[in-house]
Amino acid sequence: MTPTTTPPRIITGLSGPPPEGDSHQRALQLEQQTYDRALDCVHCGLCLPACPTYTENGLEADSPRGRIYLMKGLADGKIQPTETVTNHLDLCLDCRACETACPSGVVYHELIEESRVKLSTKKRTRMMDRLVHGVFFHVFTKRRRLKLLLLPARIAQKLGLGRIIEKSGRLLPVQLEKMQSMLPPDGPLWESNLNKFYPATPHDGVKRSTVGFFAGCVGSVLFQHVNRQTIALLNHAGCDVTVAPLQTCCGAIDHHGGRLEPAKCYARKNIDAFDTDYIVNNIAGCGAMLKDYAHLLRDDPNYAQRARDFTNRVRDISELLPQLEMPQPPHPIEQTITYHDACHLAHAQKVTKPPRQLLGTIAKLQMIDLVESDMCCGAAGTYNLSQPIMARELAERKLQHVIQTGAKTCVTGNVGCAMHIQSEAKRLGVDLKVVHPVSLLHEAYFGIEE
Ligand code: SF4
Ligand code: SF4
Repeated sequence: MTPTTTPPRIITGLSGPPPEGDSHQRALQLEQQTYDRALDCVHCGLCLPACPTYTENGLEADSPRGRIYLMKGLADGKIQPTETVTNHLDLCLDCRACETACPSGVVYHELIEESRVKLSTKKRTRMMDRLVHGVFFHVFTKRRRLKLLLLPARIAQKLGLGRIIEKSGRLLPVQLEKMQSMLPPDGPLWESNLNKFYPATPHDGVKRSTVGFFAGCVGSVLFQHVNRQTIALLNHAGCDVTVAPLQTCCGAIDHHGGRLEPAKCYARKNIDAFDTDYIVNNIAGCGAMLKDYAHLLRDDPNYAQRARDFTNRVRDISELLPQLEMPQPPHPIEQTITYHDACHLAHAQKVTKPPRQLLGTIAKLQMIDLVESDMCCGAAGTYNLSQPIMARELAERKLQHVIQTGAKTCVTGNVGCAMHIQSEAKRLGVDLKVVHPVSLLHEAYFGIEE
């Protein structure tokens, strides 16, 4: 695809003067620094081919340039926040691919996230929207509540009623059907918590560091095995690992949902909870949020400096492992895989090479490049539940590329991507297993788990 240089072509009815008598009303009061971000956009269009929503529907208003135009228009009082306008902003995945593509350094995510916070005062009137958002903000972010929510589905799985659950899922509203379809099979009825401390068991007898492990909410309920594998690798590399008991949700679900104060509250609690050299995580979305605390708490006199210090200590597991002098993994894995870049690892954290280099250390593992590997799969946190149609279209696009590689295993460093791609592959009858890079590394170091 070649970059477009056509001028903005905003859909009729979105731009133009505000209604009569309302000419000075600004629907969106952006902070000066955020407003200046919008002015940095020179409308070159180089970001358009990188944008998943624009690539899918070709609408300028669903492109980064179009959305910047809308947000600036709202801030200038030239555009009103009609349902059509907010729908274009809501359809953005906040995947940040446009930031990677932008030569002018527009920090788009701060613009869209602040706009969402300031436009979110509008009440959600649909019952189903209220219910789904209630589950996002008050259940997904609390491990115990999430375990309770999943318990009936887990019991049904254990009783062999999986097919009935799948069929009944089709009677549910699309968001709840999607939630049900993403539940990984074979999980325990009630996932146990991690220990508070895991001592180093260095392969060469050298203790290297003490790291705090950030477990994540969904991660510690549905992917605790990946958390345990991560800790085992860190121990093997010579790290003591602490799991701070007072850690909470990273705040990403609230922040991306326009709920700034709860997100700040989570950030302060996590800053208080961790006092280690590094704070390590294995979930791209959580890692990106943890690294954004410095920005989130920039105006908090008690936490601004501590948030900067915290942010500097956050590492994705794939960033830290290569620094720990790990030996060559002893167990070969004879498999063909492909690698999907999670947006919040590739675009938000700019981590693309380390996971590939780590996987490259595994003998006999063949990795086939994936076309559009860094284009969003449609998961995007809770986007696949709030925007199920676009999320499905993007998953189908991703799966078409995965099928072309011939690989039966897709590797990705984000649990949200893993659940979304896996559930869409199942729906479409695609024979595919989606795994975290840590799981392959664990197998390569310690052999297949019993
Ligand atoms: S964040 Fe992603 S979906 Fe949103 S405008 Fe940028 S590239 Fe498009
Ligand atoms: S956001 Fe960046 S790449 Fe996109 S149109 Fe503006 S200046 Fe160009």
